[in-house]
Amino acid sequence: MTAFDPIKIRSEFPALDQTVNDKPLVYLDNAATSQKPKAVLDALERYYTRDNANVHRGIHELSRRATVAYEDARIKVAQWINAPDSDELVWTRGTTEAINLITIAWGLDNVGEGDEILISTMEHHSNIIPWQLLARRKGASLRYIEMDSQGRLILDDLPSLLSERTKVVALGHVSNALGTVNPIKDIAAAAHEVGALVVVDGAQGAVHTKVDVQDLGVDCYAFSGHKMCGPTGIGALWARKDLLESMSPYQGGGEMIHFVGREESTWAKVPHKFEAGTPNIAGAIGMGAAVDFLAGVGMDAIAAHEDELLAYAIEQVGSIEGVHIYGPESLEERSAVVSFTLGDAHPHDISTILDAEGIAVRAGHHCAQLVMKHFGIAATARASFYLYNTKDDVDRLVEGLGIVRGIFG
Ligand code: PMP
Repeated sequence: MTAFDPIKIRSEFPALDQTVNDKPLVYLDNAATSQKPKAVLDALERYYTRDNANVHRGIHELSRRATVAYEDARIKVAQWINAPDSDELVWTRGTTEAINLITIAWGLDNVGEGDEILISTMEHHSNIIPWQLLARRKGASLRYIEMDSQGRLILDDLPSLLSERTKVVALGHVSNALGTVNPIKDIAAAAHEVGALVVVDGAQGAVHTKVDVQDLGVDCYAFSGHKMCGPTGIGALWARKDLLESMSPYQGGGEMIHFVGREESTWAKVPHKFEAGTPNIAGAIGMGAAVDFLAGVGMDAIAAHEDELLAYAIEQVGSIEGVHIYGPESLEERSAVVSFTLGDAHPHDISTILDAEGIAVRAGHHCAQLVMKHFGIAATARASFYLYNTKDDVDRLVEGLGIVRGIFG
């Protein structure tokens, strides 16, 4: 493998090569969505210009090619998270749909009156609302693992929160709002002792580190293509095969059936049982290309680069007067997200001023209103880093924050 060179990597992402408000773009909104490398754009173009056809249906050449590419992508993405079997990987629109799929296809049949669903106050709304909807429909209750003052889960509370009533424990691998990395393996082991299903929201997890679902010991892992260099509108749910086989279909339609009768029908084998209708074929192929691209760069090298950038960003941004950075103090416990406030400046104003400097950061509650409530704030500004960011980007951010300080005092 060649040495990691962020400048060279950057040149593979066409969208990064532009000016915004007459300044070279600094893209620091990666936790929302990443930019796409040429390799992924080329794979999409190749599919649409050469192989475009529906999958699993036609006997003609284009359909054959499309099906092979679509199923090859499934194998690549399944291997990416070390799934034991690619049939365990269900394509979805993304993390949100993957979690909704579990709450419906598994939850409606397995969660009942008086049962408990354990989540945390750190969750993205995608890992709260589907469980709230399930709890309301089934008369179950939601319980929460709370956070400490650094935005880490208080795991000392876990024994008292878990009981035989706990049917499912659903947690984020990495917090999008704080960058906190959760010790999923330990939590999964404790949850399994009471017989609970373990569902992980991996939207920010599969992005920065090598995920091994077998080593984590979880039952389900949900993730999105667009945060890891892939297209929007594609993602996956990985779940144990026996679990998928035991679950009811999620949606009905073409592709997911084996035999259709007037009153009763039977279902296709997993994963197709969960993939009703024409799937996002191009998206899946693009996500496969994204995985190839990231593997080519090397996840260990990416993680090391991001760790270095994060340390530099925390040091530089943290030393600006009036800045408060949220999330764990120890870099070991966090991912490449710097969520912060600056004096009395509203995060939206911070983001607007930075945008005028060509710097893209996120401002708001980051779909994590319970995190904001925990810290008694309405919003933060968030800079999130990826493989193509550099220390120069951090320096530009710091300069931009200097302008914010000049305006807000
Ligand atoms: N969970 C987390 C932690 C996220 O960061 C996101 C995306 N912001 C989601 C879930 C939802 O992902 P998607 O919108 O791709 O479904």
